[in-house]
Amino acid sequence: MKISGHSILGFRSVTNAGPSFRGTNPRTGEPLGPDFFCAGAEEANLAASLAHEAFATYSRISGREKGKFLRTIAAKIEGAGDELVERAEQETALPKLRLQGETARTCGQLRLFAQVAEEGSWVMARIDRADASRKPSPKPDLRSMLHALGPVVVFGASNFPLAFSVAGGDTASALAAGNPVIVKGHPAHPGTSELVGQLLQESVQECGLPEGVFSLLLDSGTEVGVALVKHPLVKAVGFTGSHNAGRALMDLAAARPEPIPVFAEMSSTNPVFVLPGALRENSENIATGMYKSLTLGAGQFCTKPGIVFLPENDDAATFIDKLKNLVLESGQFNMLTAGIRSAYQSATTRRKTEQGVKLLAARPSSANDQELGVGAAVFEADKESFLRNPDLAAEVFGPATLVVRHSTRAEVLELARNLGGHLTATIYGTEADLREFGDLVAILENKVGRLVFNGFPTGVEVSHAMVHGGPYPSTSDGRSTSVGSQAIFRFCRPVCYQGFPEVTLPDELRDSNPLGIWRMVDGEMTREPLTTRPRSLRPA
Ligand code: NAP
Repeated sequence: MKISGHSILGFRSVTNAGPSFRGTNPRTGEPLGPDFFCAGAEEANLAASLAHEAFATYSRISGREKGKFLRTIAAKIEGAGDELVERAEQETALPKLRLQGETARTCGQLRLFAQVAEEGSWVMARIDRADASRKPSPKPDLRSMLHALGPVVVFGASNFPLAFSVAGGDTASALAAGNPVIVKGHPAHPGTSELVGQLLQESVQECGLPEGVFSLLLDSGTEVGVALVKHPLVKAVGFTGSHNAGRALMDLAAARPEPIPVFAEMSSTNPVFVLPGALRENSENIATGMYKSLTLGAGQFCTKPGIVFLPENDDAATFIDKLKNLVLESGQFNMLTAGIRSAYQSATTRRKTEQGVKLLAARPSSANDQELGVGAAVFEADKESFLRNPDLAAEVFGPATLVVRHSTRAEVLELARNLGGHLTATIYGTEADLREFGDLVAILENKVGRLVFNGFPTGVEVSHAMVHGGPYPSTSDGRSTSVGSQAIFRFCRPVCYQGFPEVTLPDELRDSNPLGIWRMVDGEMTREPLTTRPRSLRPA
């Protein structure tokens, strides 16, 4: 495969000249060829028009055809695995093993959504049968199901060049629901983005789908992203990145003449509560796990544990000593981009000057600004300062964390109640701890999308039950998840058909249930056709 440096517009490659940028090797700071030409408002307009045209056909193809398409993309990515990993390694400095794992995860994710589309019950079909004899007025026949929204714009994330990028979870879930996708590639890995984009383009062609089902626009600034979000033919946005960018896109989408949903996964500090019993039994092991989790991927995971709450006792002192030693023994961690490195350095420098905060341990960052290495850091804040200063609960993207100690059970609960929205919260505890702190779980249920018990939040499983979401500001919409099969529900809406003749109904809602999907018929879940009484309603 050859990297051309051009955006992909349906079946075409955009051969515009004009401003260009290059990828950078974060290990050496060296630019990586070729030049990538920035797409602009004109390309955004063309991509949106093609996607709009494609929507009419693509939204109506069968689940089997969508499944075949998603499986074709997965097979092509697997086929190009070594080439993709090599380019991604140059552009991100992430370890080869991690990138191989991410490739497998990306393909697994595509196949999970293929399975969901093929099985078909995700449309949540509901049928309320008519009752002409109902008094005082007859009951109409009502049938509803989920339908695709229209063209979806996906912003590739810097920290997952494959799994949250061009063919990542946002793209897979939007395509599975029947939406064409326009990706705005992240400038930190343009070559990887283009290679995956080419595989998607080939898959669209091979599966005989309309041209506009997929486009990839490359840009090193915000112009093309803004033009896409404002475009009247775009109907939803998927985003992973910083709070500032996510919030800017939310505001932009809300200010359109026709506002559209933005599903932004933005920032999370993922608080960890280590309760007294667990600390007494296992303080050193938990500290080691904490260190591994906070430095995994150089701390550039949205689920990195960025705050740990500990009791004020000797066991906590053992935990802190262990964590400090691990940090002091650590080497350099490569950041993904110069911007992310400088944001980490500013945030850790600022944190040292915050009132009530002390630096417990830190390693210096690489003196050579060409290299994107930084040192890990662990800070401690007193409880009052933490409660007073919301900045201390904000995400520091990179290998740093903050310890906060408390003296009483009431203080733990006060700290938990004071938290904003996060993706995850973790509790380390014994059974006795859980009995004593039962109300902590109840508080945290209202603060996060995933509660972890005796484990760390990094390592997000892609599955049916996973929730990778949480109340604002961790995401723009706490009712959704961006990982796992439930991510499909972000990109669809319910449509109800009243009194429609059988032949005009979608297959999902026909009496005969030709797809054999699960449906709610008169309030009961069943896969039976309507020619017989649903099994659940038959007399025993
Ligand atoms: P970012 O700055 O949020 O950028 C993400 C994408 O959004 C890029 O394609 C960027 O385009 C685009 N963008 C940014 N501002 C925009 C705006 N106002 N309008 C339209 N598009 C906009 O994320 P990043 O570059 O990956 O990293 C910066 C910081 O984001 C990190 O230091 C970290 O704090 C945070 N981050 C968080 C997570 C997480 O999962 N929580 C993941 C990644 C990053 P351009 O780059 O082309 O300008």
